[in-house]
Amino acid sequence: MKAIPNKMPIDPLDWPDRFPAKEHCSKCGLCETSFVTKVKDACAFLGPSMARIDDMEERVHGRNRNSSNITWSSSSSSSSSLSSGDDSSEPDEARFGVLHEPIWLAQGNRVQNAQWTGVVTGICLAMLESNQVDAVVCIASSSNTIGSNNFASPEPILARSTDDVLRGRGVKPALAPSLRVLDEIQNDPSIRRLLFCGVVCAVQAFRAIQSDLDLDEVYVIGTNCADNSPTSEAARNFILDGVQINPGSIDKVQGYEFMQDFQVHVKTSDSYITKPYFTLPGTIAEASIAKSCRKCFDYTNGLADIVVGYMGAPLVEKGGGVTRMDESSQTLTIRNKRGAKMAEIAQKASRLTIKGKAVGKGSHEKLASATVASDAIVMAMVGKSAIMAFGMTRLGPKGINFARYSIDYHILRNYLYTLKVEKGNEESARMKLPQNARDIVDHYQENDAEFANLISKI
Ligand code: SF4
Ligand code: SF4
Repeated sequence: MKAIPNKMPIDPLDWPDRFPAKEHCSKCGLCETSFVTKVKDACAFLGPSMARIDDMEERVHGRNRNSSNITWSSSSSSSSSLSSGDDSSEPDEARFGVLHEPIWLAQGNRVQNAQWTGVVTGICLAMLESNQVDAVVCIASSSNTIGSNNFASPEPILARSTDDVLRGRGVKPALAPSLRVLDEIQNDPSIRRLLFCGVVCAVQAFRAIQSDLDLDEVYVIGTNCADNSPTSEAARNFILDGVQINPGSIDKVQGYEFMQDFQVHVKTSDSYITKPYFTLPGTIAEASIAKSCRKCFDYTNGLADIVVGYMGAPLVEKGGGVTRMDESSQTLTIRNKRGAKMAEIAQKASRLTIKGKAVGKGSHEKLASATVASDAIVMAMVGKSAIMAFGMTRLGPKGINFARYSIDYHILRNYLYTLKVEKGNEESARMKLPQNARDIVDHYQENDAEFANLISKI
């Protein structure tokens, strides 16, 4: 018997003022359902916030990540595993989370007009079409068209058919209210087996209330996630004022992404535009990132069964000359047996191709702290202005080491932001971070004078 919580949902039009996490609410959808009663224990931005991941990880995967498995590129480190910039550096669990298998490079098959090659959509289709699940929670465009509406109006749906799932391909979410369909799931007796797709903050909240849904089987696909737009309007302004595309082309935009070549890629129906992201005006960068995303410390989505991302995948493949986001491989992180089962079913259905192991090369630490020190958002907090622009495409870390750079940079930047929110109280700020994020902050604070200096200014 499913228990139905007894409290009125919050109207989405009241966002963010009447939502418990206020300006740091990521609009995950939970509070727009009767499950709002669980918000104190589920919200990724209240109380211990993302530090809850440390306790939830073992329950979800059967074990915690091995935090002592952490890779540093500097020889000054006392870590257990060192990378000196060769081309075979493999993922460490401290940053990438519980690994049931190596992280794979993968491409989706037979999905037209996806944001990338359709890995997430392909797995969802395979699970639904092989009758492994009764419904899939995914984000779709409200208009069912490819074009600007895809990043303008992300809406959660309970997909029950191939056509439903295909509505989710190519969607570039602003903040995505994936949990808004919880009451619909709760009240539908035909749903006993569910596949939930979501970004980190949505997956954390979903995991917290998952047992209340009293389902027979639950699968979770996560995506890597950082720096989403607070609103669809902010996303449009970013494309218009930051990337500065022709205003007449805005309705042709199908997607954009901050890519591994340190450029923003914008895909339109008739062109493909790139712009170095360190040349973007600081004011634009600040307005285009939601405040929730500056308190986010789980870029790699540690609580999902399987995770799809791109930051650890090479953008240009050997001999192929591939540079577009929709032609490049993505990374596939399998965290447990459910994740392995999903990948296997998708491969059997020819919806997914595994292309080999994800590896990396190049030093990442100095670049991570230098990016923080030059970041327009950080500079706005500590009162300087600087823009970093140099030949990082050639010199920067590649593959898994680019992912390390990006993970460390976001943790360091977001720690500074959280410290500011906590009025400089380091103990309060650190309580909001999972253990691996605390370890990374500690490493840079001890080994990088520039980062330690930024902390001292807050
Ligand atoms: Fe509620 Fe989700 Fe916002 Fe937290 S992030 S306040 S759980 S809607
Ligand atoms: Fe949520 Fe974090 Fe993604 Fe922002 S960056 S939408 S807070 S998972």
